[in-house]
Amino acid sequence: MQEASKSDAKKIGIAMLSGLVIGLILHKTGYAWLTEYLDPLGTIFVRLLKMMIVPLVFSSIFMAMINLGTPEAMGTMGRRAVIYYFVTTAIAVFFGMIFVNLINPGVGASLGTAGLENLSGSMAEKVVGNKGLYQTILGVLISAIPKNPFEALANATVLQLIIFAILLGWVALYHKQDADPIVKFMGSLEKLSLALTHLILKFAPIGIFVLMLDVMAKSGMTAIISLSKYILTVIVGLSCHALFLMFIASTRLKKSPLYILKGLSAPLLTAFSTSSSAATLPITMTSVEENLGVHKDTAKFVLPLGATVNMDGTALYESVAAIFIAQAYGHDLGIAQQLVIFLTASLAAVGAAAIPGAGLITMSIVLTAVGLPLEGIGLILAVDRLLDMFRTTVNVFGDCVGTIWVDSMDGQIGKHVESGG
Ligand code: ASP
Repeated sequence: MQEASKSDAKKIGIAMLSGLVIGLILHKTGYAWLTEYLDPLGTIFVRLLKMMIVPLVFSSIFMAMINLGTPEAMGTMGRRAVIYYFVTTAIAVFFGMIFVNLINPGVGASLGTAGLENLSGSMAEKVVGNKGLYQTILGVLISAIPKNPFEALANATVLQLIIFAILLGWVALYHKQDADPIVKFMGSLEKLSLALTHLILKFAPIGIFVLMLDVMAKSGMTAIISLSKYILTVIVGLSCHALFLMFIASTRLKKSPLYILKGLSAPLLTAFSTSSSAATLPITMTSVEENLGVHKDTAKFVLPLGATVNMDGTALYESVAAIFIAQAYGHDLGIAQQLVIFLTASLAAVGAAAIPGAGLITMSIVLTAVGLPLEGIGLILAVDRLLDMFRTTVNVFGDCVGTIWVDSMDGQIGKHVESGG
């Protein structure tokens, strides 16, 4: 692992902890308002990261297509990645559902029956039928096709951008001469984007310090204490899933968990403090390649796609939150409803944008599917920002492990780093 990235990671870690502690002190002493003077630095950091998403994703995916050389090679990689996404997301939801049913955080929360009028006699009747579910999936697929690629570029609609870059890269493979100028352009855009990302990373300790300071100073501990059982359920579930992912990473990479954590500390801590997989993407891309030895084409292709559709943490969180809300309203969910939650939570995570709070918005898919009142979201709102930090970290970790998984199937993994762990 490069010395520079080791010390960067250390600085980021220290910055996060200091932000956390000082933020709590400011909250306790009534000086939370002081953070307003520093807030712009956090905003600048996140904007700088977001600035890199479009140029980096567009050029990386296009160049990955060109480097892979054939549509078949990219098809194989895509298939492996998608299988990995599906299986790990399902396992994440499974963990969430096990723990929420074991801990029962919503039972006895005595929230009355307000909103229950939205429930039908038989919840199964309210469940989105096969047609509804099918339409929802179709909707996600159709909306991935850009009507206008320049609009997708301008609005940073990442999934549409990915589809356009793949298609453009695909035809470029068959029209080498015509493609030459654009391949050269994309190649240098990619290199410059990476160089700029490295530069922005230097600013990460300050940005992360301010972001942590702000969250802790403003939220403090009150909401945390009143919803502690619910928070505990989400965090225990996420931790179990993270351990499972670490097991995959460690066995596939043949490196210790500590080595992997050190290599990924910059993207994981950035994910934690920004609560955005998309904003973290530029850092994730450089870290897996430089610190873990993931092949650059795998990183370029699997990470942007993963940041958009593979959200294990969000899927787990949505299943726990939905069942928590049902428990709080005193509603017993049968196996059929739990199965619907299982499916819709996975789907809602695919549909969630990689930005802060997106999971809370797509929660409505899960709640509507089992006929739970949308007002239930109000119960968990106060701690959503906090839990978003944890679930985004797991989302990003899942994406990183995805690259290791895909790479290891070709026996490529780890060939680009010299030192072991
Ligand atoms: N903030 C998450 C992410 O960017 C999405 C969510 O809200 O769950 O990965």
